[in-house]
Amino acid sequence: MKKLLSLENLTLLALILAVPFGLKFPEIAQSIKVLGDLFIRLLKMIIVPLIFASVFTAILNLEHISKFKDLGIKTILYYLSTTGMAVLTGLILVNLIQPGKGGNFNVTGEKPEVEPFSLEKFLLSLIPENPVESLAKGEVLQIIIFAIFLGLAVLTIDRFKQEIIKNFFEGIGDALINLTKWVVLLTPIGVFALVSYIIATVGIEAFLSLWEYAFTVVLGLLIHAFVNLPLIAFIFGRYNPYKYFLSVREALLLAFSTASSAATLPVSMELARERGKVKKEVAGFVLPLGATVNMDGTALYESVAAVFLANVYGIDLSLSQMAVIFLTVTLASIGAAAIPGAGLILLTLVLSSVGIPLEGIGLIIAVDRFLDMLRTAVNVWGDLNGAKILNRFVK
Ligand code: ASP
Repeated sequence: MKKLLSLENLTLLALILAVPFGLKFPEIAQSIKVLGDLFIRLLKMIIVPLIFASVFTAILNLEHISKFKDLGIKTILYYLSTTGMAVLTGLILVNLIQPGKGGNFNVTGEKPEVEPFSLEKFLLSLIPENPVESLAKGEVLQIIIFAIFLGLAVLTIDRFKQEIIKNFFEGIGDALINLTKWVVLLTPIGVFALVSYIIATVGIEAFLSLWEYAFTVVLGLLIHAFVNLPLIAFIFGRYNPYKYFLSVREALLLAFSTASSAATLPVSMELARERGKVKKEVAGFVLPLGATVNMDGTALYESVAAVFLANVYGIDLSLSQMAVIFLTVTLASIGAAAIPGAGLILLTLVLSSVGIPLEGIGLIIAVDRFLDMLRTAVNVWGDLNGAKILNRFVK
């Protein structure tokens, strides 16, 4: 009985019940939205200190710059290759299914000005001008970079002082994980409130006209989650990914309900460490970085959305334009913030890179929240596999 009433099962039940509830009682669903907001706030409260403490102590626990280099390179390699796989899956599927081709969508719009990607701007945006400001504003990538640099510098100072600093921040990190455990107890309530609100406000009519597009995205996400990533897990991680999936499902349900990798981060760190037996220093480095830069689901969705909108506007994309989409989608998924709807905003970058009118976004926005929920779950699933696989390589 106790097993049946586990937090995971209650969360799943809340998710399932939220759908008919949102449809039947939309007013009540809207009025309990605050419960969902409170829940997300509690998680957000933990994110910034947790990211800093965990990345910083992860570096200190690696103990040597060469070990950091090794883990860093492998992490980036894993993230880039799985994102590439996701985009490729999306592009192959959308070219096979061809959603939006020959359909009569009523769209207008002009070809956008192509704003070139600026490497200079990108590089500058990585380095914090003032780390305290980055912390206050929650600029995650800047926080991670500062934590890495400071961690590396601490490795060069006197051993005794190193230990004091390490113990202090490790203590904060452990306390934040315990705090997360308390907040997680509220997941079923938070999930119920969040999902019933979405169902009450968005409804399901939008899916009727956009079903082909939504189907392509969903199919692609499922293939990536249950075929691509497990394959890599079997080959490089040597563990059973489906078992792992079940043991971390709470994080995936949470990612689905909140549509935010960042809000899910405290929970995925806790589960990777405690259920996935991932070492502290690996989870502490790979997961915060992954939540910010590794978004397989977002990348896949953006590639499908771009080709779908090209079809809708009757634009025939050449092979070299597909290659441009591949590159910009990869960049956009790295740049997207780990919050709801970020992928849709960065889709503009992809659309303008190949001259698809940005007004097209108005067409797909109706189903975006639902797709956002699914792609966020895939984003987090990609990070969790990264942590588990890389765990094997850190002794
Ligand atoms: N919501 C996604 C995330 O947090 C990003 C996106 O909009 O695709 O991972």
